[in-house]
Amino acid sequence: MFENANNRTELGSLGEFGLIRHLENAVEIKNKETLKGIGDDAAVICLDSEENVQLITTDMLLEGVHFDLVYCPLKHLGYKSVVVNLSDIYAMNGIPKQIVVGIGLSNRFSLEAIEELYSGMLLACKHYGVDLIGGDTTSSRSGLVISITAIGTAKKSDVVYRNGAQENDLICVSGDLGAAYLGLQLLNREKKVFLDSPGVQPDFQGNDYLLERQLKPEARKEIIEILKKTGVKPTAMIDISDGLASEIMHICTQSDKGCTIYEAKIPIDEKTYNLAREFHLDPTVCAMNGGEDYELLFTINQKDFEKLTAKLTYLLSVTSLLRKKVITCSINLTVKWH
Ligand code: ADP
Ligand code: MG
Repeated sequence: MFENANNRTELGSLGEFGLIRHLENAVEIKNKETLKGIGDDAAVICLDSEENVQLITTDMLLEGVHFDLVYCPLKHLGYKSVVVNLSDIYAMNGIPKQIVVGIGLSNRFSLEAIEELYSGMLLACKHYGVDLIGGDTTSSRSGLVISITAIGTAKKSDVVYRNGAQENDLICVSGDLGAAYLGLQLLNREKKVFLDSPGVQPDFQGNDYLLERQLKPEARKEIIEILKKTGVKPTAMIDISDGLASEIMHICTQSDKGCTIYEAKIPIDEKTYNLAREFHLDPTVCAMNGGEDYELLFTINQKDFEKLTAKLTYLLSVTSLLRKKVITCSINLTVKWH
């Protein structure tokens, strides 16, 4: 299955995506019902009906890696942990229906704390019309662990993969980028101030939007509804969990295309821009590499553009055109609002 089993290869030399690709190479799909396994936002499974498919995705959140309970309220954490999974179902152009929740915890947590966590999860379930149908509970010696699997449905012909982008398609993003990252920088700064001088109240004034983007993100359900209403099927789609740079790279690599990203067309909110400057960060870099925006990044045929802009005036920003192969990035302007 794996060659060179006696050698030691450092994981750092592969990186996360390299590791996943390596594991994927050893996986053999045996069932004809498995239409798509590893490699997209969700797996696609065809059941008894030829027409409808099931979409399955899973995400794990670890205390100290993905969240910090010093500034992340448990209710928000519960909400976010559901939303990040639903976002992957929407990224396949599907509708999420159920979630399964696994938690690892210690007696550091009270019943009331877990109730808070679940109240956030259930609020997200209510908001997105999803059922919580089960899970698993175990003890953890390394902080809180939350592992959620989301299940969704779609018509087989509606499913949008990462690999369908065509030359000269438009690259679109459903909202502004970089805000969640700046929200995190702000929380980290105030945490440090708080730890240094516990009496001092955190200063979040005027930055509600950035905090909300970090602590209580939403999945772009309405974009999927608009795509359906307008009859537009993107040629490729992915949700932005790791940052624009990484996600466009996935679309380009899997579609065997390249792209040009025009810096001036990257949507960045004014508050993100201003706070980035305050932190001496480049706003474009925050948008490209920050991540956790949970916006949808998709490519469409140019002929579909008019149909979408009629409905998406504030949500859609055309960042650039897909190219044949070569990936270039034109960095010439500092910033531009959508
Ligand atoms: P996303 O950012 O959309 O959640 P990931 O980058 O986590 O996607 O995963 C990309 C693909 O790799 C998905 O198809 C996912 O199911 C698969 N994958 C991730 N980790 C593993 C793993 N440990 N074993 C098998 N498949 C994995
Ligand atoms: Mg994803």
